[in-house]
Amino acid sequence: MECTSLVLKVASRCNLNCTYCYMYNMGDLTYKSQPKFMSDAVVDALLHRVKEHVETHKLRVFFLIFHGGEPLMAPKKFYRNFIAKARKLIDPEQTDLRFMMQTNGVLITEEWCKLFEELRISVGISMDGTPKAHNMYRIDHKGRGSHDNVVRGLQIFRRHFKRVGVITVFNIKENPIEIYEHFKSLGVTNYSILLPDMHYDNPPGLFGIDHTNGRTPVADWLIPLFDHWMADTCQDKPKVQIFETLIELMFGKEGSGNEVLGGGQNDTLIIETNGDIETVDTLKACGHGFTKGNMSVFSNSIDEAQNTPLIRLYFDSHKNLCAQCRACPLNEVCGGGYLVTRYSAENGFDNPSIYCRDLMKLIVYIQNRILRLMPESYLQQTGMELLSVAEVLEIIEQNLAASSMQPVLETAC
Ligand code: SF4
Ligand code: SF4
Repeated sequence: MECTSLVLKVASRCNLNCTYCYMYNMGDLTYKSQPKFMSDAVVDALLHRVKEHVETHKLRVFFLIFHGGEPLMAPKKFYRNFIAKARKLIDPEQTDLRFMMQTNGVLITEEWCKLFEELRISVGISMDGTPKAHNMYRIDHKGRGSHDNVVRGLQIFRRHFKRVGVITVFNIKENPIEIYEHFKSLGVTNYSILLPDMHYDNPPGLFGIDHTNGRTPVADWLIPLFDHWMADTCQDKPKVQIFETLIELMFGKEGSGNEVLGGGQNDTLIIETNGDIETVDTLKACGHGFTKGNMSVFSNSIDEAQNTPLIRLYFDSHKNLCAQCRACPLNEVCGGGYLVTRYSAENGFDNPSIYCRDLMKLIVYIQNRILRLMPESYLQQTGMELLSVAEVLEIIEQNLAASSMQPVLETAC
């Protein structure tokens, strides 16, 4: 599998200062030594690396994702120049370049929306739902919540685009149904729920997620949302990505899964503002300088970078599973959890996800719920059967005993 997309840190600073931000507030301070914006020299070098890569591997499609910090802090002319150069350099007959952006939405204006239309940039907005949920963590540098400003940007965006996609960070302190209904009222057409980028050395208790005594607060929050979503008969109900992806994976849909779930390979690299080529940026949450290697668009090809150990680890993160995950009957759906959530200084990434029991409970619940909707003949034909969490744990134990693999951090499951 080759790299098929680059996340471009076009601005290394942000107009917000979200409490949970892995860029600024999880212990990594390397942003301070980055230039504030990507220079023309970095743009030229990275586009030549893209050209080299898509030609070598004859890639028909390649994604360039503008990211930050906050990408709308870069001037509009940056995007005009970037895309004009890219379209001139890379033959559209050979490779279809697709441009995307993830923004916090605060700075969206009519002019920006016209630019997105003109340059054909697909845009996603980061938003955490109701004013209460959103303003809890997504604050500016003076500590003020950004909900109303994001809604203003989102409403302008809706006047230009039919599809409004948001990425939202799981918030245990807000009612999931209220968040869902709030997004519906804003015309959001699809949303992705991300679990906080926490791990064994920095557990999610900080966000009120209490796993003590075998609790599964994440699953207990997501399951009522799943039921509500399933029962929603509105024609234009939002797609909730985590549920759709899990169902697709359970039924073996080809190409389903992502960097969090499933058994596929990851294929995205990060280009830092100074041109460094790095692994997935959420690993910044593992400590200061964690993602740093010595690869740069000025001296290395994308192929050279994708074969360095930390990038390989991320690319193969659904294959490189700990003993417990290898023994788990749900691993093709779960994928062992998002890489950052497996980390501990003691074992590296050789752990199940810190959200293991939540993922287990959620997957079992959704699978059983969907299977109960299926005709008996389908179950007989496919051999699919209802499962319980207790049975999953028993299978893990049996598989571990049979292969004499030792579970890592037994208490996690
Ligand atoms: S908007 Fe994004 S980059 Fe900016 S502080 Fe919040 S999470 Fe970090
Ligand atoms: S053991 Fe836990 S983290 Fe690992 S695959 Fe199974 S459910 Fe996922």
